[in-house]
Amino acid sequence: MEWHSIEEPELLEATESSRKGLSNKEVKVRQRKYGLNLLPEQKPPTLLKIILNQFKSPIIYVLLIAGSVSLIIDEVVDAMFIYGVLILNALIGTVQEWKAEQNAASLQKLLKIFALVKRNGHETTVSAEELVPGDVVLLESGNRVPADIRLIQTNRLEVDESLLTGESMVVIKDTKLLTTATPVSDRHNMAFAGTTIMAGRGLGIVVNTGMNTEVGKIAKAVTTTSSAKPPLIIRMERFARQISAIVLIAVIILGIIALFRGMQIQEVFFFAVALAVSAIPEGLPVSITVALSIATRRMAKRNMIIRKLTVVEALGSVTCIASDKTGTLTVNKQTVKKISLPYQLNFKVTGEGYNGHGSVLSLEDGKPSDREQELLKTLCSMAILCSEGSLYMKNKEWKFNGDAMDLAVLAMGYKLQISPEELKTKSQILANIPYESEYKYAATFFKENTSINIAIKGAFETIVALCEQVQTIQGNEALNLKALKRQNEVLINEGYRVLAVAFGQVEEVYDKEKLQPECVHHLTFLGFLCFIDPLRPEVKEAVQKCLEAGVKVSMVTGDHPVTAFGIAKELDIADSFEQVIIGKKIEQFESSNHPEFLNILQKARVFARVTPLQKLQLVEGLKNAGNFVAVTGDGVNDVPALKKSHIGLAMGSGTDLAKDIASIIIANDNFTTIQTGIEEGRYVYDNIRKVIYLLISTGGAEVVLFILALSFGLPLPLMAVQLLWLNIVTNGIQDKALTFERGEPGTMKKPPRKPTEGIFNEQMVSQVVVSGLTIGLIAFFVWNHLISSGYAEKEARNLLLLLMVFLENVHVFNCRSEKKSAFKIPLSRNYFLIVGVFLAQGIHILSMYTPMMGNVLEVNPISLKEWFTFFGLALILLAVMEIFKWIRSKSPLQKRL
Ligand code: ADP
Ligand code: MG
Repeated sequence: MEWHSIEEPELLEATESSRKGLSNKEVKVRQRKYGLNLLPEQKPPTLLKIILNQFKSPIIYVLLIAGSVSLIIDEVVDAMFIYGVLILNALIGTVQEWKAEQNAASLQKLLKIFALVKRNGHETTVSAEELVPGDVVLLESGNRVPADIRLIQTNRLEVDESLLTGESMVVIKDTKLLTTATPVSDRHNMAFAGTTIMAGRGLGIVVNTGMNTEVGKIAKAVTTTSSAKPPLIIRMERFARQISAIVLIAVIILGIIALFRGMQIQEVFFFAVALAVSAIPEGLPVSITVALSIATRRMAKRNMIIRKLTVVEALGSVTCIASDKTGTLTVNKQTVKKISLPYQLNFKVTGEGYNGHGSVLSLEDGKPSDREQELLKTLCSMAILCSEGSLYMKNKEWKFNGDAMDLAVLAMGYKLQISPEELKTKSQILANIPYESEYKYAATFFKENTSINIAIKGAFETIVALCEQVQTIQGNEALNLKALKRQNEVLINEGYRVLAVAFGQVEEVYDKEKLQPECVHHLTFLGFLCFIDPLRPEVKEAVQKCLEAGVKVSMVTGDHPVTAFGIAKELDIADSFEQVIIGKKIEQFESSNHPEFLNILQKARVFARVTPLQKLQLVEGLKNAGNFVAVTGDGVNDVPALKKSHIGLAMGSGTDLAKDIASIIIANDNFTTIQTGIEEGRYVYDNIRKVIYLLISTGGAEVVLFILALSFGLPLPLMAVQLLWLNIVTNGIQDKALTFERGEPGTMKKPPRKPTEGIFNEQMVSQVVVSGLTIGLIAFFVWNHLISSGYAEKEARNLLLLLMVFLENVHVFNCRSEKKSAFKIPLSRNYFLIVGVFLAQGIHILSMYTPMMGNVLEVNPISLKEWFTFFGLALILLAVMEIFKWIRSKSPLQKRL
C-alpha cells in the first residue's frame, strides 16, 4: 500500500480506523493478526560464545600449552590438574558473564518505549509493542516514533531521521499528499519507526508495525546502547599486560638461575609457567567486570538504570549535581490551590490531585458572586484551551494523561463545572503553540463567530508583556503593570508556582503561518492560577547526605527565582537569596570560561528562569570550574546539557530522546536516587581497589618468596600445581568475594575522590609493597626454617602451602579497608566474604584429606599443633598491616585527606 499518496478518508478506510481510535476489542483482534510491534533486537551472545570467551586470554594459552607439554612428557596427573583448573576457571567465568548478560537484558526491559494513542476516543499510554495498524498515535517532541505512521495532523513537527537515512538534518513534516514514486526519505507525510521527534506535535495512523516497518525491513537494531568496554576495564587490561611483560622477564631470569643451579629443564618450565600464572593478575579484568555488574544490579534495585557501564565508577567522583526542580525535588503532582484575579481578588480552590473533587470558594468560604463566577470561568476556559493532556472519568474512576501543569488546569475546569473535552470540541481550534520550556508559554488560536481568538498561559513576565488591558470585576481597563507585578510577587512569596492567563483577538486575515503570539499584542490579562507541587519528603535528607559527602547540590529550573528559592531554602540547597542566579545573567558571559562567571558559579545554588541553552552554558561553566558534574534532564532541549555533562541523568518520566542520550536513567525521577547512586558508585570504586590490592600484593609476595629462595640456594618453595592451586582456586574465590563488599562505614562522609586520581596512587603502592613484602618474608623465613631443621621437601611444601592459604585468607580482611582497621568493618557487610574464606580454606583442608587430590597437590593432613602454629604465623600479617594503617592515619599527609 502506498500510504503516502492517499487522502485521509481513504487511509481511514484502508486501516478500518477513525480519528477516535480503535476499540480495545479491535486492538486485541489485530494483535492476534499482526503480532507484537517489535523491532529486531541485538541478539545476546550465546552460551557457547560466552564459554569460548573464557579461553581468550594469554594466561589460558600458556596453561593450555603447559597442559599439552605435560601430556607429551607423560605427566598425566599434572596435565589433568592443569585442565581441571582451566575448566573450573572457565566455569566460574561463564557463570559470571552469563549472569551479567541476563542482568543487562533485564535492564533493557526496563527501558521500554511507550506510545500515546487514542483508544475508544480517549488518550491513553500503552507500551509501544502493543501497537497495531490502525492505531491513532499522538507524537510529541522527544518521542521515539513507535511504528510507521501516516500523519494526518502536524504542528511544527520536526523529525530526526538519521537512523534511517544517515542524514543528520532535521526533516520538517506535514500532511501534504505525495506522488506514489516519492522515495522513503522524502515522504514528508510519514513518520517512521525508530526516528525521533525533535519538536512539535503530530497525529497519525499506524500503517506498519514490527518487521514490516522501514527500519524492520533493513533489520537494524534501534537500540543504540553501546557495548563498549568501560575505560576502567581497558586500563586494567593494559595494566595486566604490562605486569605480564615484567613478570615474564623476571620469570625468565629466575628460570636461567634455576637452570644454572642444576634444575631439570622440564621442571624449570613448569615452575616458570606456574610462577607467571601466579604473579600475573589475570583475574583482574573479570573481577572488575563482576564488581561493576553487581553495582549495576544494586543500583537498578534502587531505581537507577545504568545505560553505560562506564559511568558506574565515575558516579563516585561526582562533585556537583545540577538537578531539575519539578518532579525531581518535588513530586510533580500539581494542583491549582488559588485563583487570583486582577487586582488582588483571590479565591481558594479545594481538593487535591487530578480529579474534579473540590470547588472554588471566596477566601471567606463563600460562593463567588455571579460576576465573579463569570470571570473565573473565562479565565479557566482560556487556560483549558491551551492545555494538552486528558482527564476524564471512566467507570467511576479518574483517568489522566499528560503534563502535570496542564492536568491541574483540567481538574480546575471540572471544579468550575467546565468539561474540558466538551469545551475543546465546541471551540473551533485553528492552531496551537504547544508548551516548550524555551518559550515558557502555551497558546491556542480558535475561531468564534467571525473573529480569531487567542488563549495563552505561561510565565507572568512573558504573558504580561503581550497584554494591554486587564479584565476586572468592573470590566476591561488599561493595564497597571506595577500593580500586577506586585500581585505576582505576593503570590510567589506565598510559595505558589504561578501561571498567568490572557486572552485576545487576532485582527489579521487568517493565515496559519502568522499565528504567533508575538504578532498579537493587544491581549487582555485575565488573572493568575496558583499551583502547589509538594516537595518530595525524603529529598531533604538526601541533600544533607550529599553535602556531607562533599557533593554540591544546585537547582536548575525554568521557574521564577522566588518560587525556586523558596523550595531551595526548604531543602537546604540555598540559604540566602544571593545564591540565586537567573538565566539571563549566565548568558551575559560570552565564554563559559570567564573568571567572574566561574566565581559566580562557585557560590550560586539556584539557577532560575533558565533556558536549555543557558543550562548548557551552566554545565560548561561548572566543568570549567573543575567540577565533575552530574546533570538531570527530561526534555529534548536538555539533550545538549546531558551530552556535555560528565554524567547525564534522564528522568524515567522524561522523553525517549533524553533517555537515549543519558548514561543513567532515574526510573522514579527522585533526587534521592541520585544520592544513593553516588553512594553505590563510591562503593564499587573502593571495591575495585580492594580487589586490585589483594591480587597484586599476593602475586607479588609469591615472586618475592621465589626470588629469595633461589637467591639463598633453597629448593623451590612450591610446586607448579601448588602455585596454580593457590592462585586460581583459593585466591580466585576470595577476590570475587571482595567485590561484594557493601561499602565501609563513613564513605559518604568523605569528599569525592579526584576524578584524575589513578588507582595506583601512593596509598596503593605503599600498601601493596608493605603487605607483599610481609607475606613474602614470612613465607621465606618459614621455608628456610623448615628446610634447615631437616624437613623433607615434600613435607615442608605441604606446610608452606597451608601457610600461604592462611596468609591469603587473613589478607582478605586487611584488604576490606585501605585505611580503617580490619576490626572496624562489620562482617555483616559482606557475608559472601565469610563464605568465600571458609570455602577457600575448606577445599584446601578437603584436598589434604582426599587421597587423590592429596597426591596431585602433594599435601597431607597435619597435626593440631602445626595448625595453630601456622595460623598464628599468618596473624603476623594482620598485625603488620594494622600497624601500617595506624601509622598512616597519624601522618600529617593522611590527615589532610
Ligand atoms: P521546571 O524547571 O520547574 O520544570 P519549567 O521549565 O517546566 O520549570 O517551567 C518554567 C515556567 O514555564 C513555569 O514557571 C511556568 O511559568 C511555565 N510553564 C510550565 N509549564 C507550563 C505549561 N504546561 N503551560 C504553560 N506554561 C508553563
Ligand atoms: Mg518542567
